[in-house]
Amino acid sequence: MKTPGKIVCVGRNYLEHAKEMGNDVPKEPLLFLKPPSTVIASGEAIELPADAGRIDFEGEIGVVIGTRLRKATAAECAAGVRGIVAANDVSAREWQKEDGQWARAKGSDTFLPLGDESNKPFDLADLTVVTRHNGVEKQRGRSADMAFSIPVLLEYVTRYITLEPGDLVLTGTPAGVAQIFQGDMVEVEVLGHSIVRSTVAAL
Ligand code: ZN
Repeated sequence: MKTPGKIVCVGRNYLEHAKEMGNDVPKEPLLFLKPPSTVIASGEAIELPADAGRIDFEGEIGVVIGTRLRKATAAECAAGVRGIVAANDVSAREWQKEDGQWARAKGSDTFLPLGDESNKPFDLADLTVVTRHNGVEKQRGRSADMAFSIPVLLEYVTRYITLEPGDLVLTGTPAGVAQIFQGDMVEVEVLGHSIVRSTVAAL
């Protein structure tokens, strides 16, 4: 898809993933940002920084905003979603722990492979994301299983951050994340909508 204006993300939005990382689901959504310079297209390579340590894939459902949303209700937010995109929120785990914030852990170049935006009809409560690692299915998550549903998540975001047309919101990853290595192939698909395939290269 065209490079998003801004990219707002949520951590720990599926109970099973929060558990596998040794965390609880927070009482309120845990927001962070990825810079637009993280974005790569399907077919491009995720580049592993040499000094990063463990780097994981995180398959996620991305929603593309179609109308300006500021302090909007959940219903207004649901109506303001324009499209669906498959996303891989690539994450450097040691940096995530060490740095106290996630700028380089989640914001390094190539850390956001994105599929094409789908504008087919969708039901935000009934989307499924699947991640395949070297051809093996590792993650399968349904939007119905999120701790915060997509409209509720967007309502929370717009309380603080105005969303503009073309902005992207990543909705969290389900259980099953795993480390990636040079030469791997990672595929994230939002079933019926969008798919992104990435090779993995070491820097
Ligand atoms: Zn994520």
